Amino acid sequence: MPHKDTYILLGSAGSGKSTQAELLKSSLHLAHIDIGAELRAVAAHDTPLGRQVNDFINVKHELASDDLVLSVLMDAIHSVPNTVGLLIDGIPRRESQIQQVLKTLTDSGRILNKVVFIDVPEAVSVERISRRYACEGCKRSYILGKNLIDSEKPCRYCGGRILQRADDTEEGVRKRHQVFHQETLPVVRYFESTGQLLHVDGNQETYKVFKFILEHVRPE
Ligand SMILES: [Zn+2]
Repeated sequence: MPHKDTYILLGSAGSGKSTQAELLKSSLHLAHIDIGAELRAVAAHDTPLGRQVNDFINVKHELASDDLVLSVLMDAIHSVPNTVGLLIDGIPRRESQIQQVLKTLTDSGRILNKVVFIDVPEAVSVERISRRYACEGCKRSYILGKNLIDSEKPCRYCGGRILQRADDTEEGVRKRHQVFHQETLPVVRYFESTGQLLHVDGNQETYKVFKFILEHVRPE
């Protein structure tokens, strides 16, 4: 039986990763596992695992430990039949997670096709994120200069206040970008050495980034 495609997508905040994930998911018919979203969903449940994850991400504001992240990933991967292509988003983020992720894929009968790394300079990441806002009331997202002109005005849908995320300050974004690069560079190098890495210049228009990725990952 032919193996269905399995991809890993990596990129820092502001790299455009979420947008590309959506595009890839729909055009290649992939199931999408966004590890950040999976963790947030688990953290919302009052279970032993949920409480542990919640403690890391919502109380200590840290990345969850490898053990926790990997067990959440494993559950998510096993919930997708291996006859369906898969897009894993945001993991492995650190070198210590690589072998476990690969083992989980192998155990579920999958072969990793490509690791897509969307790379943007720190300045671009900062610039993009500094334009991100959200309504406090209805949680709708806004981008300054796109669907938001004046962040002082109330939300046009619900009248709520429009705010930036607390860690979306310039300093916060710089720090996240630097941590991401420090931790993820060894992962990028690893997949470079196995020939599975697709290095993508994320500092270009969305459709160009997407076109580049498709040209390099689309199975013949
Ligand atoms: Zn609103």
